[in-house]
Amino acid sequence: MPDVNIVESLEDARNRLRTALTNAGRDPASAHLLAVSKTQPAASVRQAFEAGQREFGENYVQEALDKQAALTDLDAIVWHFIGPLQSNKTRAVAEHFQWVHTLDRERIARRLAAQRPPALGPLDVCLQVNVSGEASKSGVAPADLPALADVVATLPQLRLRGLMTLPAPSDELATQRRPFAELRELLASLRQRHPQAPLDTLSMGMSGDLEAAVLEGATWVRLGTAIFGQRAPRA
Ligand SMILES: *Cc1c(COP(=O)(O)O)cnc(C)c1O
Repeated sequence: MPDVNIVESLEDARNRLRTALTNAGRDPASAHLLAVSKTQPAASVRQAFEAGQREFGENYVQEALDKQAALTDLDAIVWHFIGPLQSNKTRAVAEHFQWVHTLDRERIARRLAAQRPPALGPLDVCLQVNVSGEASKSGVAPADLPALADVVATLPQLRLRGLMTLPAPSDELATQRRPFAELRELLASLRQRHPQAPLDTLSMGMSGDLEAAVLEGATWVRLGTAIFGQRAPRA
């Protein structure tokens, strides 16, 4: 049994996001909640869906496919891939997700484009950037971002939506804001370089740093534990 009331914590998360947007002087509809359901059972995803959540983030391909298979009756659900993406998993992701937030290599971009079923329309992608203070080794270096964006912009099966980052955790608001500000500035430059691309997305901010991300312009905040409670260790 989950140790949290998903309906209540989802409501709390929405209120938290709305408050953060208001405090940042932003339109309360200008950022969205991505419910990160990795390691959570399909039943928990269903509960959140029934409480009105439509967008879910998953990190592990096989686990996500199993969950999706148990939830095929939820027509309006939208799946986002937010984990590290290896070449041998690109086909499954191209076929079973609407978004990828973690694209950081040309080779993966070309595979996703080639494998995207035309009937599904373009895959929405964010380029993951390794800005200063990054926790992980994933993500393209800021200096290499323009070249990667140039490639993605030539692939009609991919829709270049924006940037994503995953900074090292910090308790200080000022420290939290720095990498998010950097990502915002990188997106602004990319918009000038690719005026035709629908670059409207900053995927940044998690349970511990949502407010900082919203102050810097986040449009997707990715919340896991704040909605579903603690994750069990992966088997
Ligand atoms: C797990 C994860 C999250 C959610 O983290 P929480 O701390 O559970 O809110 C967000 N983004 C990514 C990329 C993740 O892997």
